[in-house]
Amino acid sequence: MSKYIPIIGLEVHVELKTKSKMFCGCSADYFGKEPNTHTCPVCLGLPGALPIPNKQAIEWCIKIALALGCEINLFSKFDRKNYFYHDLPKGYQISQYDLPFGTKGSIVLSNGKTIGITRVHMEEDTGKLSHHETNGVKTSLVDFNRSGVPLVEIVTEPDFHDAKDVVEYLQMLRSIVRYLDVSNADMEKGDMRLEPNISLSTDPTKLPNYKVEVKNINSFRFVDKAIAYEIKRHEEILERGETPIQETRGWNENKNATFSQRVKEEANDYRYFPEPDIPPIRHTQEAIDELKKTLPELQTEKIARFTKEYSLPAIKAEILTREKSRADEFENAVKLGQEKGISPEQIANMIINRPDDLEIHVNNTIHVEALLQRVELENKREEISEEELKLVIQKVIADNPKAVEDYKSGKESVIMFLVGQCMRAIGRKVDANIVKQSLIKALT
Ligand SMILES: [Zn+2]
Repeated sequence: MSKYIPIIGLEVHVELKTKSKMFCGCSADYFGKEPNTHTCPVCLGLPGALPIPNKQAIEWCIKIALALGCEINLFSKFDRKNYFYHDLPKGYQISQYDLPFGTKGSIVLSNGKTIGITRVHMEEDTGKLSHHETNGVKTSLVDFNRSGVPLVEIVTEPDFHDAKDVVEYLQMLRSIVRYLDVSNADMEKGDMRLEPNISLSTDPTKLPNYKVEVKNINSFRFVDKAIAYEIKRHEEILERGETPIQETRGWNENKNATFSQRVKEEANDYRYFPEPDIPPIRHTQEAIDELKKTLPELQTEKIARFTKEYSLPAIKAEILTREKSRADEFENAVKLGQEKGISPEQIANMIINRPDDLEIHVNNTIHVEALLQRVELENKREEISEEELKLVIQKVIADNPKAVEDYKSGKESVIMFLVGQCMRAIGRKVDANIVKQSLIKALT
């Protein structure tokens, strides 16, 4: 047991799937498109271009905040976060500083631990750099298709002490934005980008005097590995009597290691100030209450209801509700299955155990009926007592000496003929596999 306790916080960026970008009419559906074809003076940051906020994006950001139990600021605004980088042509990012849309939310993990959500705010994405080497010359190219795509940032308190909890939190967060239908949360396309900040402490009541951020991780598995890597690295430094440097690091997935990107001598000075081109945003409490009513039943609520209403074990309810479409399919099948006397748990088992290629994310009646037919078929299999099976097998062996001899001399395919004979003798629909296994036992 290590004497150090990991103190971990998390920043997650979620790209919204709105039709248009955050402050202009360009299509936000940019993934895999020809570079610099989804651009206009606003998202290219040309002088004099004026941003117009995307109402849908703001509403979706507030929905995320509400789903995370946040308080909503009825008076809010956008701010300029000033910094210079090649993927940011304006020299500033429009973000939110002191009045984010949501504050003070939380998520409760399955082990009962509460993770505090500090803030949920809205900002715009930047362009994307790619690095190349042409004729021995290193070049960096920039694609502005992503510039200005709506981004929601969700920041937690440093409440994690364990990478496993971080991964569970991320799974829950992804489930929430997917249930809300506001982001595809496709990790491989960069819809969700993860930044853990990590430090070690010997006293859990005190925050250490340093922290290390690992930027832009695009998979839950890599977050898990990056945190483990950092914990070990910090431990070694602390054991030498030194303090890890406050810095930003990247994750190298080929080397399974983090690497130093930028040392923070002091806190970044972004010289935030209110965005002068966008008036402050006011919401009435009534409007927020109305929005809250539109929130769908989320996964944790569904799990609770499924375990209660259908008497399902929590683990099965969790698997069934991972995708909203699967949960809906289950409930449709339960409704139809009721008349046929098929229990919810039987339907749950069929959905959970079916091979992946049968997974259809559409809730058509044909599919549900096919599912029920399979459950009914399973149900029709009747029980057979060991006694009865033994008698039948003895009789079949006695009646088919030639086949038995063939089997014993190595002609294994004959077993299916004998199984068929047994099934006929039994005269009911029993599990052929059980018959086969008992038959093999009797013949050896
Ligand atoms: Zn644009």
